[in-house]
Amino acid sequence: MKLYNIKDPTEQVSFEQAVQQGLGRGQGLFFPESLPVFDNIDELLSLNLVERSALILSKVLGEELSHETLQAILGSAFNFAAPVVSVSDKISALELFHGPTLAFKDFGGRFMAQCLATFADGSKTTILTATSGDTGAAVAHAFYGMENIEVVVLYPKGKISPLQEKLFCTLGGNIKTIAIESDFDACQAMVKQAFDDQELKQAIGLNSANSINISRLLAQVCYYFEAFAQLPAAQRAQTVVSVPSGNFGNLTAGLIAKAMGLPVKRFIAATNANDTVPRYLRDGQWDPKPTQATLSNAMDVSQPNNWPRIEELFKVKAWGLSELASGRMDDQQTAKAVQNLASQGYICEPHGAIAYQQLSEKLADDEYGLFICTAHPAKFKESVDEILKTDIALPDALAQRADLELLSKTLPADYALLRQMLLESK
Ligand SMILES: *Cc1c(COP(=O)(O)O)cnc(C)c1O
Repeated sequence: MKLYNIKDPTEQVSFEQAVQQGLGRGQGLFFPESLPVFDNIDELLSLNLVERSALILSKVLGEELSHETLQAILGSAFNFAAPVVSVSDKISALELFHGPTLAFKDFGGRFMAQCLATFADGSKTTILTATSGDTGAAVAHAFYGMENIEVVVLYPKGKISPLQEKLFCTLGGNIKTIAIESDFDACQAMVKQAFDDQELKQAIGLNSANSINISRLLAQVCYYFEAFAQLPAAQRAQTVVSVPSGNFGNLTAGLIAKAMGLPVKRFIAATNANDTVPRYLRDGQWDPKPTQATLSNAMDVSQPNNWPRIEELFKVKAWGLSELASGRMDDQQTAKAVQNLASQGYICEPHGAIAYQQLSEKLADDEYGLFICTAHPAKFKESVDEILKTDIALPDALAQRADLELLSKTLPADYALLRQMLLESK
């Protein structure tokens, strides 16, 4: 597989290089030089998740990873289900939260960890990543205990849910967690700065596990196919997919699936009050505002990293951006959406509920809707309990960690201090 740097297309890399480097020169994102288009979609959809995903990704990756290697990687990475659950006559939920850290980030995090382990040459690697709440947990758990890999996770102090924090800041071992006294965009900026720091990069073997890493996106493409495999064949071409979006990796993966021939009718990009993209799609002005804290904190991103990939894909496929629907919801509307779903018998956390509400408002009579449930409701127990005046149960993965001590350090949003800490712990 060949990929190029969107900012500087003369920089071309293999999948292995792209996975290991994360970002290209000038912080440019890597993008596939070509994508296969499948014309045997029904045949593909008749396979199971692991077999189908191995087939799709081996076509994307070419000779770089054999079909057998991919099958082994995916067998251990995707060892949990992604069920489509019916909510009403016309709307279903794609539940992506049945992995070990109860959010869709497990798909990408676990696949990336397996790829890096496969490509490992014995030298030491430091995975530096910023999280708005769920990536940190998925990446930390996926790499926990792996040899020669140290994981450093930055997250905005006090801006992720207490249970999200417990899930990954209590592991210790090769997992270091740092609470940054600022917002997610500041954490993301510090990670990018580290990538531009050649000396540091060399010294600690820097890599990133953010959704800027192409391996995560490719893993996520697979569950869109899985969702369509579970829909009645007659509905597929009329299905609209609504994606709760923050850094826009999830939507990028969905659009890539469509580019490969999955018959998604159209997509809805659903955001919270951090609505840079909906405003951009409406006015044509890219005008990020300061990041606001919301109930759907994993989408508190005002400068979504993956947006350039979406623009690139629309350009390559000659699609019009006007085909992409979008909308935003404030916290009050989000809480209403959670209640609205509960009244239909479906308990959902704020991120999925935003996608649901946007979908139900924008769905035409002849369309079916699928919204993506990105996290288990218990991961946002504080909000869900308060909105629904209930007390939802904690699944084992959370219950086991809820009483453990947090091991995080706190740092101001100051790159020099982060750099020093990374070099000292080398
Ligand atoms: C990360 C995350 C999102 C946003 O996904 P992007 O790929 O960054 O757009 C939405 N919901 C939850 C629960 C998340 O963890």
